Amino acid sequence: MDFSWTEEQKIWRKTVKEFAEKKIKPNVREIDTNKKIPKNIIKDMGSLGLLAPTVSKEYGGADLNWKMSCIAAEELGRADISLAIPVLYLVEAAWGFIFNRYGTKKAKEEYLPKVTSGEAFCGIAVTEPEGGSDIVGASKTKAEKKDDSWVINGEKMFISGISESSNWGGLHLTLARTNKKAGHKGFTLFAVPIKDNKNIEATLLEDMGRMGISTGGFKMNDIKLSNDYLVGKENRGFYYAMEGFSAARTLIGATCVGAAEAALDMGIEHIKNRKSFGRPIGSFEGIQFPLAEYYGDIESDKLLTYKAAWLMDQMYKNNKFSHHDVALFAALSKLRAPVHAFKVMNEVADWIGAMGYTKEYPIEMGIRGVRSYSIGAEGTMNIMKIIIARELLGKEFLPYK
Ligand SMILES: Cc1cc2nc3c(=O)[nH]c(=O)nc-3n(C[C@H](O)[C@H](O)[C@H](O)COP(=O)(O)OP(=O)(O)OC[C@H]3O[C@@H](n4cnc5c(N)ncnc54)[C@H](O)[C@@H]3O)c2cc1C
Repeated sequence: MDFSWTEEQKIWRKTVKEFAEKKIKPNVREIDTNKKIPKNIIKDMGSLGLLAPTVSKEYGGADLNWKMSCIAAEELGRADISLAIPVLYLVEAAWGFIFNRYGTKKAKEEYLPKVTSGEAFCGIAVTEPEGGSDIVGASKTKAEKKDDSWVINGEKMFISGISESSNWGGLHLTLARTNKKAGHKGFTLFAVPIKDNKNIEATLLEDMGRMGISTGGFKMNDIKLSNDYLVGKENRGFYYAMEGFSAARTLIGATCVGAAEAALDMGIEHIKNRKSFGRPIGSFEGIQFPLAEYYGDIESDKLLTYKAAWLMDQMYKNNKFSHHDVALFAALSKLRAPVHAFKVMNEVADWIGAMGYTKEYPIEMGIRGVRSYSIGAEGTMNIMKIIIARELLGKEFLPYK
């Protein structure tokens, strides 16, 4: 077993780190306050290959593998602990990959070059107002075939990137029921463009964190799409969605590891210098013990995350392992890294003292941002545990049919 990074990986990490330190980190508070990522940052990310980086080169992507994608996610998480830019990055990396893999040539030619250059957004719309965890039971969105096209009706809610998609253009890969008797085998994925579609009503929600990227929903009233906007095969959409979620969860693990590392570094810097009772507070066991525990949590989350990425590379590039292996490690990474990042940030806020409760200090942006991932974006913690148990016990032990 070899834990060292290759030269290519080291150069990529250095490149992303330098970019993120220079162009992103100094702007994070402003992005959080203005609730918008400046267009010049998006453009620069596109030039560096950081927008939908997993997309193939013919559509302007960097054709990055998952280990390289996770390296970038970790560095972006380090630079922007509010997680707005990392969310934009990881959503497009995961769902751009699915669109690149299963979308039609025509739709890909229309959208992917714009996504990889920052002129359009690519997201995912699965969740509905009546539930995200039990999407098979809760989903009311349906697509019906009429002549040569599809008519979609329904509503999606708590969706990342609605304002981006409405303003810049682009699409949300949207799950719709196409066979109501077939359970999870009756869903199809469609590429739904939101901008300027008079049959789509978009709404925005005010989040508590990751303010630079929007969350909202959209109602689809008789929207008409040709077969060009079908993603993959009819009635296979649930499987494509699960594939994308595993990718996204792995990237979330990497992002949260990076954000937790950044928070711990801030904490270490502080506890070495802040004095109390005549000594640096870092010399007290009450500070050292959580430091040791959280350092261990971050390091073990990193191993799980890069193992998930390695499994994905093996599956996609070498045809080894299956999505079961990937789903297990992606769920483990998503189960642990966001929770640990939240705990580390909370602990560091304690170490900082009163300053940690102010907006003069960045830690509060991190606390608000990482909470999105422990509360449920890309699947709740309980759902991660159900996935892990399913892989360990077999699907006959699932708590639902
Ligand atoms: C900031 C943010 C961004 C998001 N972006 C997107 C996006 O881009 N696209 C998208 O499709 N969705 C998105 N989501 C939605 C997210 O996927 C859902 O919130 C998530 O799947 C949970 O669904 P829910 O909120 O309806 O909660 P519910 O499914 O109603 O769950 C509520 C609670 O019940 C628990 N629960 C449910 N079933 C079980 C069970 N069987 N056993 C034990 N506990 C259970 C859950 O763990 C949770 O604690 C986003 C969410 C957030 C917070």
